Amino acid sequence: MRFSRLLVPTTKETPNDATLASHIFLLRGGFIQSVGGSGLYNFLPLGKKVLDRVRSVVKEELDAAGCQEVSLSFVTPASLWEESGRYEKYGKELLRFKDRKENEFVLGPTHEEMMVNLVRQSVKSYKQLPLNLYQINLKFRDEIRPRFGLMRGREFLMKDGYSFHADEADMKREFDLMEETYKKIFTRLGLAFRVVEADSGAIGGSGSKEFMVLADSGEDTIVVCDACDYGANIEAAVRQEKPCDAPEPRLGKEKVHTPNTSTMEELASFFDVDPYYLVKTVAMRALYDEGRSEIVLFALRGSDELQEVKACNAVDANELVDVSEEELAQAGLAAGFMSPLNAPKGVRVVVDNTLKDATDMICGANEKEYHTTGNTISGDFIYADLVAVQEGDSCPHCGGSLRYTKGIEAGHIFQLGTRYSEPLGCTFLDENGKAQPMVMGTYGIGVSRLLAAIIEQHHDEKGCIWTKESAPFDLYIMVSNIKDEAQLALGEKLYEALRLKGIDVLFDDRKDRFGAKMKDYELIGIPHAVIIGKKLAEGLVEFVTRDGMIKEEVSAEEIASFVEEKLC
Ligand code: ATP
Ligand code: MG
Repeated sequence: MRFSRLLVPTTKETPNDATLASHIFLLRGGFIQSVGGSGLYNFLPLGKKVLDRVRSVVKEELDAAGCQEVSLSFVTPASLWEESGRYEKYGKELLRFKDRKENEFVLGPTHEEMMVNLVRQSVKSYKQLPLNLYQINLKFRDEIRPRFGLMRGREFLMKDGYSFHADEADMKREFDLMEETYKKIFTRLGLAFRVVEADSGAIGGSGSKEFMVLADSGEDTIVVCDACDYGANIEAAVRQEKPCDAPEPRLGKEKVHTPNTSTMEELASFFDVDPYYLVKTVAMRALYDEGRSEIVLFALRGSDELQEVKACNAVDANELVDVSEEELAQAGLAAGFMSPLNAPKGVRVVVDNTLKDATDMICGANEKEYHTTGNTISGDFIYADLVAVQEGDSCPHCGGSLRYTKGIEAGHIFQLGTRYSEPLGCTFLDENGKAQPMVMGTYGIGVSRLLAAIIEQHHDEKGCIWTKESAPFDLYIMVSNIKDEAQLALGEKLYEALRLKGIDVLFDDRKDRFGAKMKDYELIGIPHAVIIGKKLAEGLVEFVTRDGMIKEEVSAEEIASFVEEKLC
């Protein structure tokens, strides 16, 4: 492609609302264009090329793993969403609208219902299973805060795949295959990433994994082990049991006046004990379907912090919200002095696993300014893991030290089970002729988000540094001064010769000054460049590697074979 013919509206100015490098450079480099600043983007020729290259890496690896590409309607009938129960539940991210006949529709934010509908119409027998169908298509989510450019758009390109199986074991086999396939995709794209265990709600276990591209700007906090490959989303992270070296309080059963002890630290120093021996009781309001809600008490050791998503899953709620002191008082609870042991009747109590049957514990007395000592924590509670893993905790696999890092969620694989096949009646006849719901897995990749993720990981202060398989072109050739006949002639010759070798070349034949062209090159970030300049008089040209802006002088005669060797 000749630069003089290409639409690349590069700019020097940093766009107003852009803070992330990827957002700034994709806009400034003329890859994308904002449409009204509301999470909607046009892809310009360079951006479309990158998107297509990333898309084809995804497609090649999925096809090699036996998946089949389909393309489903972006507009989806609301009736399907009603069948699955998600029409109400999905909330405001779901864009609902009516056609001229008053039929209700939804712009697909994800396509479980649509894919199940496709399969239930065409698959009837176990002989047709397993099946893994995917598409790489637009999605629309009316995100509350679209931001960071392609990172969190409202309209975005997603690869969404769904697999259908006769039994759970086969679904798990496919889940593992998808994990391996995703690793190949992210590796080919040149990304440093971690596969982490994710919150899988009611399913639990390792039924859900996220692929996190490591970047300081990532929105997700992940917990990783430096000694092994354990990684988990903060919401799903677990640790090895954490014993306490400090002596037990050895206090008898007593009610003690404890003024000015509203924090765990104050309470620990009041009794001169380690916070490990204190019970921290947190009250939250749990929200359920159809407007139902209740106050729930979550109890854990004073040395631990509550992980709200774990807490929410423990009571199967949609959401947890704070409760005011007045609400607590109305429910018969003394804020700051609550305990799992004396909760008023009807108040549900969830106790962290590490507190089960713990002795010698100090709890609130459920009375202002009083605590009780010498308690054993047992009773008719829900027991669950409620703890937020901290940095320095021990890895559950190898005992190594855990630390926090930041990631961008680029992919997500999930064991779905029969969550959709059952309500939508997606069944097959097994070997005995009995109808069974299909067991499903679902697998997503944020294809347009990947463009942002690649740049977050690969850029410098001057611009983008595309990786080999994501770059819009393999090579950039610059003729510094197109009025110089020898320079232009070599440029043209090289451009033709390398194209014939299958190298995708951007040939800068523009009249602009050298400095301006160089700035564009650095901003656009093609991995390699050949700069034909003044030194051609001495028979030399420059070969540039964008990562680090490493420059090598090469003889003009040998440059074609030099490039071929480096790139092919
Ligand atoms: P997030 O937690 O970032 O909102 P999600 O959990 O809602 O993502 P999924 O429903 O798992 O996302 O969608 C699959 C993939 O689609 C995600 O892993 C992510 O890469 C991508 N994705 C999700 N929302 C957006 C968005 N608003 N813009 C761009 N990509 C997105
Ligand atoms: Mg997700």
